[in-house]
Amino acid sequence: MSAQAKLFDIESRLIEVRHRIATACDAAGRTLDEVNLLAVSKTKPREDLEVALTAGQRHFGENYLQDALNKIGLLGNAPIWHFIGAIQSNKTRAIAENFHWVHTVSSLKIARGLNDQRPEHLPKLKIFLQANIDKDPAKSGLMPEALSEILEPVAELNRLDLMGLMTLPSQRETTDAQREPFKQLRDLQLQHLPDHNQLSMGMSGDLEAAILEGATWVRIGTDIFGPRETK
Ligand SMILES: *Cc1c(COP(=O)(O)O)cnc(C)c1O
Repeated sequence: MSAQAKLFDIESRLIEVRHRIATACDAAGRTLDEVNLLAVSKTKPREDLEVALTAGQRHFGENYLQDALNKIGLLGNAPIWHFIGAIQSNKTRAIAENFHWVHTVSSLKIARGLNDQRPEHLPKLKIFLQANIDKDPAKSGLMPEALSEILEPVAELNRLDLMGLMTLPSQRETTDAQREPFKQLRDLQLQHLPDHNQLSMGMSGDLEAAILEGATWVRIGTDIFGPRETK
């Protein structure tokens, strides 16, 4: 594919995704401004992000720290950067220093690291706590029981701004089946964090189901930037 065709592709796919979000908002009886689009640009080159930026996309999600830092170095703060990958404790400093949002906080230890390392001159770091709705020990995220235990200590971390809950369920085929874990996440939020109204859930394959269940952030990679090379 020529460079020109690829650029056109990203722009038209972005328009298509925005259209799907608008249609899903209608179906859910929600207004479009309740749902934010996070463009997941992991593994994609800087040029692809520039096309999306030019097409009006502000928020970008990255999973791999070094790859992300390279792009942040090139694009600066024109985009708003969201970290959405697994976090090891030796990575919290670079994340706290370079990102605006983190969707994948799944332990008190990681929350404390991000809090302690968030530079004073920056605003509070916006975070989501990641819940392991599938209760699959092989996956990351807090088990629902563990979540309630860390809410108080996390609320006391004054360099963090807790926005709500995030989840990454295993893939399901039908919209009804996809809605189930998203509904569980929303119920968990209502039960434990009634004052927080942000929910990060839904990807390319299930954004409609997530919006029906109250998502305020959908994280879309493939349907904007095309398939990824396996990494
Ligand atoms: C890769 C990724 C996405 C985007 O997934 P697509 O299916 O490509 O839209 C969303 N959220 C997280 C946490 C991811 O790692």
